[in-house]
Amino acid sequence: MKKLALHWKIIIGMVLGIIFGFIMNTINGGKGFVTDWIAPFGTIFINLLKLIAVPLILASLIKGISDLKDISKIKSMGLRTILIYLGTTLVAVIIGLGIVNLVKPGKGMPQDTIEKIKIKYANDIGVTDKLAKAAAQKDTGPLQALVDIFPSNIFKAFAEASMLQIIFFSILVGICLLLIGKKKAKPLVKFFDSLNEVVMKMVDLIMLFAPYAVFALLANVIIAFDDTEILVKLLLYAFCVVGGLILLIGFYLMLVTVYTKKSPMWFLKQISPAQLLAFSTSSSAATLPVTMERVEEHIGVDKEVSGFVLPVGATVNMDGTSLYQGIAAVFIMQVIWPEGLTFTNQLVIIFTAVLASIGSAAVPSAGIVMLVIVLESIGFPAELLPIGIALIFAVDRPLDMCRTVVNVTGDATVSMIVAKSLGKLHDPQPKEWDDHYDEV
Ligand code: ASP
Repeated sequence: MKKLALHWKIIIGMVLGIIFGFIMNTINGGKGFVTDWIAPFGTIFINLLKLIAVPLILASLIKGISDLKDISKIKSMGLRTILIYLGTTLVAVIIGLGIVNLVKPGKGMPQDTIEKIKIKYANDIGVTDKLAKAAAQKDTGPLQALVDIFPSNIFKAFAEASMLQIIFFSILVGICLLLIGKKKAKPLVKFFDSLNEVVMKMVDLIMLFAPYAVFALLANVIIAFDDTEILVKLLLYAFCVVGGLILLIGFYLMLVTVYTKKSPMWFLKQISPAQLLAFSTSSSAATLPVTMERVEEHIGVDKEVSGFVLPVGATVNMDGTSLYQGIAAVFIMQVIWPEGLTFTNQLVIIFTAVLASIGSAAVPSAGIVMLVIVLESIGFPAELLPIGIALIFAVDRPLDMCRTVVNVTGDATVSMIVAKSLGKLHDPQPKEWDDHYDEV
């Protein structure tokens, strides 16, 4: 009997999880059952992925850089990566603003719905928590984000999984290994090479558990939705975000086809397990190990490139998030602050949404926290802020799932482009081990 490909197993797990969630929603005590007995398996899976993210970044970056022939290559790869990342993020916000201005989903939102949302969500613990987080984030100097890249204690950075700090440290170690020469560097390079292999193998093993884990994750998401009436009212806004995200994926596929001459369908098939995980976990950081495995072993991007481009991308390149922030900011204004909808404000939104997506952490709901800062940057009235966030809060989780898929796809696309431009895109060579789950 032919074995089912991994992405099909994951899709089946997701669908069953959704159905199970809906059934449990209708059964007395069903929600408690999911929370107590099903959801923990999803958490275990996310923990395992996060567990390997730090050693993976460390090993792959150090190995990637120490393999380079000379230091000037790092400069050219770094510059290319950052510029392409900025470019795609800018395209994303502009698509978002275009759609929301065209469709105007916030126009004509019934007054009684706004009232209901105000009552239901304005004091919701989730909403107040997001506002508090945004306030804490904003309460720092303009250069704090830069200062935060440089760790004072690398073990603290590991313990807190501060991606940018770990990336900085790894690049530094990689460069120094290059500088001390091959002979002296050899033991450490071998060590990190071997560590890299071990972590990649762990990804394979953990992924065997993925179809069951996504079942748990999705069942747990579904039981959180009970207010279908408000959800339906917000449908047009959600459609705008999802439509924009689909357009953005189309843009990536065009880049892949035109620049790397690979088939878009092939690209989607190779990257799909990472996309499905992004959807289930809502976290680019948790998905990173799988994104790296797919891009290196199934798409053929050289480790030198993926080891740098993907960890950086997971942290700073969030095209789906920036598109969403553009749409959400304008939607909220259309509903509760139409007088703020000026051309200048929309220009400011473009600028701040790009920065906010860079600053968003690669974890669930980071985008909505940074949205608060985007809104504040255009002088959005403080007393309306809780209502604005409450307005979109009900549908934020499903949209978070979708934008995370785009964030991950964007990183994979850029890694292919950078690899191609440096002559580092090869024919993929999946490891033997993958065969047992990857053959259709
Ligand atoms: N969850 C997203 C990510 O991890 C960030 C966001 O909230 O938009 O990529």
